[in-house]
Amino acid sequence: MDGEFALIRQFFTRPTPRAVLGVGDDCALLQPAPGMHLAISSDMLVNGRHFFDDAEPQALGHKALAVNLSDLAACGAKPLAFTLALALPQADPLWLGPFSRGLFALADAHGCELIGGDTTRGPLNICITVFGEMPAGQALLRSGAQAGDDIYVSGALGEASLALAQLLHERDTASEAKKPQVPLAPEAYACALARLHQPTPRVALGQALRGVASAAADISDGLLADLGHILERSAVGATVHTACLPALPPAYGAAHPLPAQLLRHALAGGDDYELVFTAPPAQARAVQAAAQASHTPVTRIGHIDAQPGLRLLDGQGQAVTGEFGGFDHFA
Ligand code: ADP
Ligand code: MG
Repeated sequence: MDGEFALIRQFFTRPTPRAVLGVGDDCALLQPAPGMHLAISSDMLVNGRHFFDDAEPQALGHKALAVNLSDLAACGAKPLAFTLALALPQADPLWLGPFSRGLFALADAHGCELIGGDTTRGPLNICITVFGEMPAGQALLRSGAQAGDDIYVSGALGEASLALAQLLHERDTASEAKKPQVPLAPEAYACALARLHQPTPRVALGQALRGVASAAADISDGLLADLGHILERSAVGATVHTACLPALPPAYGAAHPLPAQLLRHALAGGDDYELVFTAPPAQARAVQAAAQASHTPVTRIGHIDAQPGLRLLDGQGQAVTGEFGGFDHFA
């Protein structure tokens, strides 16, 4: 791409004091500390699939890194560095400026250095690979849940999905416009859009849960889908009490327990980037301590069963069935 090196120098080259070598050579160099494992994860954002053509570049810079940091959080890793592979339709400084500002604001907040990447001309596509570390043997895995463990989620669920539904409705996207809507008041919509466009990866909570949680995953595809990954990898089942799902923030003015039309978003909506994790009941106090230390609310929503499958129960202990896309998958 024309001016590729000038572009990299101007927008993507910053001091990298923690890396042995950053941007500019054929490879970057990292020195893992003795006794630490490297945790590595990649996530790609594709124009038209993960964001709209006119997506705000600063928010996109934030989100591209946030979804990757969320994977590190789910493993209990501390962020170290990342690479950025970028396909751009053109080298537009009015796009690259805010994109790199959004990216580096989040990177700096987590002490995560941009150490390399690739830049090419093409339809807008952003692929980040993150590197983190944790003491050897202490990674939180999807495979560690055991019958009797409690199930927890961080934060609140369904906000990003509510925002997306309203956004698609406004844009009159043919297939989505017909779906039932939960019209949001302006304050709630602003809140929900911020969650959709600038998610908060639960990095501090993930690290605080090392040695406490038995299994963890981040919620990118919806609670049921991502808890489903834990159940599958751990060869266990679960019971989730829908009345225990976290309340939405006050801006939504929503009832608690969540009414059915909000439940759908909380259970099956993606893009929240909260953590779902399990811990033995004996660790309940340690879970609360981790939540407090990381300033992240945490809610117990159910427990792990030896019996396979996922059971959803309402406040009266009755099975909740039907209306949740993807839920039958666990039957
Ligand atoms: P090569 O041809 O060896 O793959 P490039 O010429 O593509 O290297 O890149 C030159 C340097 O710039 C490398 O150190 C690479 O990691 C870095 N780089 C390229 N694109 C980006 C980017 N978008 N962000 C950060 N670093 C980048
Ligand atoms: Mg290259």
